[in-house]
Amino acid sequence: METTSATALRDLTTLRLGGPAGRLVEARDEAAVVDAVRRADRAGEPLLVLAGGSNVVVADEGFPGTVVRIATRGIAEADGEEGRVRLEVQAGEPWDPLVGRCVAAGLAGVECLSGIPGSVGATPIQNVGAYGQEVAETIRSVRVLDRARDAVVELGAGECGFSYRSSAFKRTPGRWVVLAVAFELERSAASAPIRYAELARRLGVQLGDRAPLAAVREAVLELRRGKGMVIDPADPDSVSAGSFFTNPVLDGAAFTALERRVAERLGEGARPPGFPDADGRVKTSAAWLIERAGFTRGHGDPRGIAISAKHTLALTNRGAGTTAELVALAREIAGGVRDAFGVELVPEPVFVGHAWDER
Ligand SMILES: Cc1cc2nc3c(=O)[nH]c(=O)nc-3n(C[C@H](O)[C@H](O)[C@H](O)COP(=O)(O)OP(=O)(O)OC[C@H]3O[C@@H](n4cnc5c(N)ncnc54)[C@H](O)[C@@H]3O)c2cc1C
Repeated sequence: METTSATALRDLTTLRLGGPAGRLVEARDEAAVVDAVRRADRAGEPLLVLAGGSNVVVADEGFPGTVVRIATRGIAEADGEEGRVRLEVQAGEPWDPLVGRCVAAGLAGVECLSGIPGSVGATPIQNVGAYGQEVAETIRSVRVLDRARDAVVELGAGECGFSYRSSAFKRTPGRWVVLAVAFELERSAASAPIRYAELARRLGVQLGDRAPLAAVREAVLELRRGKGMVIDPADPDSVSAGSFFTNPVLDGAAFTALERRVAERLGEGARPPGFPDADGRVKTSAAWLIERAGFTRGHGDPRGIAISAKHTLALTNRGAGTTAELVALAREIAGGVRDAFGVELVPEPVFVGHAWDER
């Protein structure tokens, strides 16, 4: 365990934004994580658990407490149920190398999640997903430190409350610190059925077909690179927190109201994208709404905060930006979509040291 003070959090985030941490503790094994969290709790200090820093928007003022950086490593393989393979992975393991390892070993179930930055332990927090797959499909259990009970417990997948880009962990922030995640994967050289139209087209297969694991990983990485969604020091569009807003999920009446607003504004015949979701609700596209509300790729300050030149949903820091400017642009976009279409956009990343709702 290594403790330092006055570290600039911008150095630990993919947006390269955020002021100083009160104290930074780097924890390299489970016992060190538990110890660091318990010490902070007993001292009554505010606590931030941070790993890859790819899904946080940290205030310019920083975080006036203890930041525990999860740097644990280790992957244990065992037999799972019905011939599957069980991988128990330490929270600090980087996610994409794990996906690469599974693909190379002929283990199916996470291949569409290639290229997502960050750690394994953060994947259950927002039920990481992309290209028609999400981690909830393969997570079997999550070992956590439950700060409310001061106990290390194993939560089954059913107790994690997974939903679209959310979970019990995200809905009750700070209660659980993820120590390790157990996945169960199919032994198969072919992928899980492809559910995402753009990926199926790229692979030259029909929706519902399977494709070789390595081909799926390559296709996903190519699609993501084209959108600046793979971290690349040579790509300024990848200096982001990924998608800044989640796709709105609307009930039937709200989606009908949206269809009416779209027709009024864009002309009869114009229709918002709509994908059936749970409980009769409809998921629409945040990127489509942002574009139709008049925001274009690249909008913003070419040397500061701007919409990615490759993907309307990502807000980027071109170098000289601040968190205040990022939040101002995000509010301008959300306000534009609200005024044009009556839909409320919700940010996907976690705000640290400030809140989205502060006005
Ligand atoms: C270019 C880019 C593309 C992206 N694409 C996608 C995508 O396709 N799909 C997607 O779902 N996400 C995407 N993301 C978002 C992000 O990569 C994921 O949410 C990732 O899982 C975050 O991991 P992290 O280790 O960086 O978490 P951090 O940013 O360090 O933390 C995020 C949140 O999780 C909490 N947390 C982290 N680790 C733990 C732990 N061990 N225990 C408890 N809480 C913890 C933190 O406190 C914080 O609230 C993208 C981000 C970027 C920058």
